Amino acid sequence: MINGTGVIVQTNLGRAPLSQAALRAMAAVGAGYSNLEFELEAGERGSRHRHLEGLLCQLTGAEAALVVNNNAAAIYLVLMALASGWEVLVSRGQAVEIGGGFRIPDVLRQSGATLVDVGTTNRTYARDYAAAIGERTALLLRVHTSNFKLTGFVHETSLAELAEVGRAHNVPVLDDLGSGTLLPTAPYGLSAEPTVPESVASGADLVTFSGDKLLGGPQAGLIVGRKTLVEQLKRHPLARALRVDKTTIAGLEATLQAYLRGAATAEIPVWQMIAAPLDGLRARAESLAERLGAAGRAASVVSCESAVGGGSLPGDTLPSFALALATAELDATARLLRTGNPAIVARIANEQLLFDMRTVLPEQDETLYEGLKLRVES
Ligand SMILES: *Cc1c(COP(=O)(O)O)cnc(C)c1O
Repeated sequence: MINGTGVIVQTNLGRAPLSQAALRAMAAVGAGYSNLEFELEAGERGSRHRHLEGLLCQLTGAEAALVVNNNAAAIYLVLMALASGWEVLVSRGQAVEIGGGFRIPDVLRQSGATLVDVGTTNRTYARDYAAAIGERTALLLRVHTSNFKLTGFVHETSLAELAEVGRAHNVPVLDDLGSGTLLPTAPYGLSAEPTVPESVASGADLVTFSGDKLLGGPQAGLIVGRKTLVEQLKRHPLARALRVDKTTIAGLEATLQAYLRGAATAEIPVWQMIAAPLDGLRARAESLAERLGAAGRAASVVSCESAVGGGSLPGDTLPSFALALATAELDATARLLRTGNPAIVARIANEQLLFDMRTVLPEQDETLYEGLKLRVES
């Protein structure tokens, strides 16, 4: 499929396209047998967790790590293992719906934990948490409000303050980062999405984040944090039900290694798209517009805005360039493009079909040209 929408991490379109290294690793491990749970030195049964744990600890500064099916599963596992039958404190401003009906209060209820509201919708202070802690408090939960912005008369307790309250009362803090990121987003003109190493350094006892959002890997839920807690999670029966397969582990391992080599922006598609220079996007759009124009199509180049998406950086955009096509039957043409092979998804704006070059993979330019020439009337 060709994603012309300009939304880089689109859940409906499969989230992160994988790096070549991740794809190679997944194909290699999928095609045969592997040392998934086998210690080659000792010739004994091993743990599937060890492939990723060291890498994740190195990249985040955490003591221990565990990978499960997705971030929703990661949160659920933590709640089941640490808080079932107990109370979890959540700021009123963070009892949110993440998308697809995944709501923090519902997940808490499902896990058998009781949600205790703290503070108010717009302002929650560290002292509110401290006052709400009781004998039945098992966890302080911070949820990154990843898909909306609260502005105006607002106050959020910082993670460092929350960790201090947790330490003082001997209650662990779980930080659900949602997307999470290993690289800072500010250098690309975006707001500062909280990074996983920052979260660990601020004192969160456990941090959960997705494998296929800004990390740019396969679908997974990553949990990093204190060793005693992570060991508790690994031992919980649910960990087995939520475990990841060998191809996910291989793809994640290759993705994480790119970060370790400092090659993430060069090799991981999500970061290649975020870091793509404007000149290059404009040149690709111009080349396509010129060729389609020569073929009699009403093509031009327009500036537009891309979004990171995937429940991260709400409201933030990156300047970009799109190939624009004017056609009489906008909706019918958009449908024709979507239903062909490969499917081409456009954005409609100002009575034109737009194809944001930031989310069209460079190797798809030729296919996009052929598809448009064939399916859009001159
Ligand atoms: C996306 C998101 C999740 C769910 O992650 P999945 O990997 O889709 O299961 C949870 N919490 C937050 C804050 C999110 O943004």
